[in-house]
Amino acid sequence: MTLPSVRPQPAAADVLRRVFGYESFRDGQRQIIEHVVAGGDALVLMPTGGGKSLCYQIPALCRPGTGVVISPLIALMQDQVDALRALGVRAGFLNSTQSDVARREMESAFVAGELDLLYLAPERLRLRATADLLDRGEIALFAIDEAHCVAQWGHDFRPDYLLLSELRQRWPEVPRVALTATATPATHEEITTRLGLENARHFVADFDRPNIQYRVVPKKEPKAQLLEFLRTEHAGDAGIVYCLSRSSVEKIAEFLVANGIAALPYHAGLDARVRAENQARFLREDGLVMVATIAFGMGIDKPDVRFVAHLDLPKSVEGYYQETGRAGRDGLRSTAWLAYGLQDVVQQRRLIDTSDGDAAHRRRLGQHLDAMLGLCETVECRRVGLLSYFGQQRAAPCGNCDTCLHPQQSWDATVPAQKMLSAVLRLHRERRQKFGAGHLIDILLGRRTPKVTQHGHDTLTVFGIGAELSEAEWRGAVRQLLAQGLLTVEGEHGTLLLTDASGEVLRGDRTVSMRREPERAPRAAAVPKNRRAVAVELPDHAVPVFERLRAWRGATAKEQGIPAYMIFHDATLREITLRRPSSLSELATVSGVGENKLAKYGQGILDTLAETEAAPEPGSGQ
Ligand code: ADP
Ligand code: ZN
Repeated sequence: MTLPSVRPQPAAADVLRRVFGYESFRDGQRQIIEHVVAGGDALVLMPTGGGKSLCYQIPALCRPGTGVVISPLIALMQDQVDALRALGVRAGFLNSTQSDVARREMESAFVAGELDLLYLAPERLRLRATADLLDRGEIALFAIDEAHCVAQWGHDFRPDYLLLSELRQRWPEVPRVALTATATPATHEEITTRLGLENARHFVADFDRPNIQYRVVPKKEPKAQLLEFLRTEHAGDAGIVYCLSRSSVEKIAEFLVANGIAALPYHAGLDARVRAENQARFLREDGLVMVATIAFGMGIDKPDVRFVAHLDLPKSVEGYYQETGRAGRDGLRSTAWLAYGLQDVVQQRRLIDTSDGDAAHRRRLGQHLDAMLGLCETVECRRVGLLSYFGQQRAAPCGNCDTCLHPQQSWDATVPAQKMLSAVLRLHRERRQKFGAGHLIDILLGRRTPKVTQHGHDTLTVFGIGAELSEAEWRGAVRQLLAQGLLTVEGEHGTLLLTDASGEVLRGDRTVSMRREPERAPRAAAVPKNRRAVAVELPDHAVPVFERLRAWRGATAKEQGIPAYMIFHDATLREITLRRPSSLSELATVSGVGENKLAKYGQGILDTLAETEAAPEPGSGQ
């Protein structure tokens, strides 16, 4: 029998300050935490980087017993537990990667009431032994992390998550809190019913991530464009580059390395050991670029990912928002950069056409893609578009996305649209043969290519009627016609076909408005003098102190075998740089410095600061 806990319940605000070193709760955290501490069930929808973990970690520390966290991220459990232990929290995990000895030790610790938090892989719940074990200890709460994994058609679906609906029957008195960053109304509903959370309180946070700058550029020479983006804006920064296929992951990683950028590949085809090692290096080392398929990234809580670049079009706005959300968890300035072109649309449509599942499923995938295309082709603020996709209205343009920074004009493209659509119609009618965008553009531009003459397409009435647009503009036009549902694309060669709506345009019953193709991609303002200073937004003269602190952190992390960010985040080092505390008690008031870290690292920080005072960096202007 376990003895009733005699510890008085600590106050949530106190735990926030003492353990985590944070002064105040973020938007929504207080209400969620108070609700769960009081024993209520909760469904928490918060954007990636919004601060979900505290919403179950603090209640677990406040309530008697152990908080049991169900998480699919086995490869990250060790890191999550290490991070908590660095804060002085008693945490552990149970999953298939550990030895029998380690597992038994963890189980006894749980039964003895010596754990604040226990992380559990969902497949553990299939085992009778797990339920028996949980019965022998005291459970403070169940936290269901990445709760969208219960949604059937989501790309992260895990069958084991369906077992989680049984928690309520077996432990009706234990509060359950489910958390996710995927929050379209449809996913929200699916999580609610599948986890039986109808009577839980639902908390929906503001989904905006104001420190992320969203940009979409027309894809021309993707490798060169990526390289320029990295060199001019993110030299030396950690970031993620997403590609669709394993082979492009390999190629891009090699290309970056050949160009002097420290990059690693990550995809499901790599040996598990290599994958784990690359992930660990990305988390532990500074300034690495991970080139990956979307198999990488869920639950990665590296706070200083400064950019997320997409070289291929994401399949849905949900996926895009989750992937880009991995940038800038520390709240510092970050970039989400996407290169997208006509070929992406062709490729994605083909993937949908050949995907498993019934017609309804394919239609759903098609709708996801259409929403993504709409976001790419908008002339409005991208953030407004993103947030409205998640059901959140925002009145004013954000000022921190490419369409806000370089307003795009739309123009009346009805006539060019009619020309393109009639060319598609002619070809289809006269020859019953199918052609892709490149050939159609050649015809409209009046180019007598071998293929054009071979098929006699230079005799068509539409031959050469499109000289008012350049090739790039025509490609943009096709892309936008696709995004607007006025054309559709099919088959391996990307055959263009008319849609039901095309007729309205051909008959002159409908006008078409398009976004003007920029002459060249708008570039970031001038290349900054001191890039690091820009990222952390420090005055130039403060940068050397910040760099000293980083060097100290790097050395300390190496010594202790943990990632640098587990010691302090960049944001904390930044505040230390600006405030230059001269005593431990002053240092304790910096955000991110809790009791445990103060005791462990406080003197190291003060000593490092003292050194920078004694010997200012050459060139610091002092
Ligand atoms: P999520 O799980 O929602 O993606 P995390 O829980 O990892 O986000 O939190 C993101 C970052 O914000 C973490 O580095 C965390 O330490 C920090 N954070 C969370 N809550 C607060 C707070 N109240 N004050 C300061 N920083 C916070
Ligand atoms: Zn904007």
